[in-house]
Amino acid sequence: MRFDIITIFPRMFDGLFSAGVVKKALDKGVLEIRIHDLRDYTTDKHRQVDDRPYGGLEGMVLKPEPIFRAVEAVRQSQDSLVCLLSPQGEVFNTRLAEQLAGYKQLILICGRYEGVDERVIEHLVDKEISIGDYILTGGELAAAVVVDAVSRFVPGVVGKEGSVERESFKGGLLDFPQYTRPRDFRGYKVPSVLFSGDHKKIARWRLKKALEKTLVRRPDLLKSRQLSSEEEELLKEIQEERKDS
Ligand code: SAM
Repeated sequence: MRFDIITIFPRMFDGLFSAGVVKKALDKGVLEIRIHDLRDYTTDKHRQVDDRPYGGLEGMVLKPEPIFRAVEAVRQSQDSLVCLLSPQGEVFNTRLAEQLAGYKQLILICGRYEGVDERVIEHLVDKEISIGDYILTGGELAAAVVVDAVSRFVPGVVGKEGSVERESFKGGLLDFPQYTRPRDFRGYKVPSVLFSGDHKKIARWRLKKALEKTLVRRPDLLKSRQLSSEEEELLKEIQEERKDS
């Protein structure tokens, strides 16, 4: 899968993908990330990418011509999606990340200043993506978040694909707690069930903990989940225990 990021600040991506899982996937050739300087797609001697908004008001708006030119130059395949990072877009989540991983190429346009000329949105962009209800100074950090989260769903990026399946949100639950050595750290002990060797018991404990975390922190997720009979039973247990405590 290939990501093309269009930005006026290409240097912001220096080093960002130079370690960890994404770097390994780049080395293996499973992923490709190209950063494009929007100014390279201007035609005037000042390499101007922005201008004042029509109708007055302060601030600057990114001009349409360089953005159209950049997208038209980098678009590689029919199976590509042009995305604008924008606080007005669909809020990014794991479902959207998985869906975007199905494309061969994602073109990510990073806005700046007051945003981009609306004609870019109306006539070039397939999807606007927001990473949350707050305003960033630019789309670069948002683009990096999208690249990272989408990459995890590209086959061959995360070593054990099972871990992507299991993680928070994927199955509609938050992840269960994890522990590693030492068994006793300053008197804080790892739950003994994890040493029982009884895999069924461990799986049930993990499911219960995942349900409990989700109930306490994100009850909204439980509402949209079809619960199994085991989960219903565990949830009752949790609710009883919480009543008593
Ligand atoms: N005037 C715009 C508005 O209110 O919708 C905000 C412009 S913001 C200062 C500049 C750029 O940062 C946006 O064009 C967008 O690319 C990016 N940006 C800001 N907040 C974002 C968010 N929550 N998610 C994704 N991109 C964001």
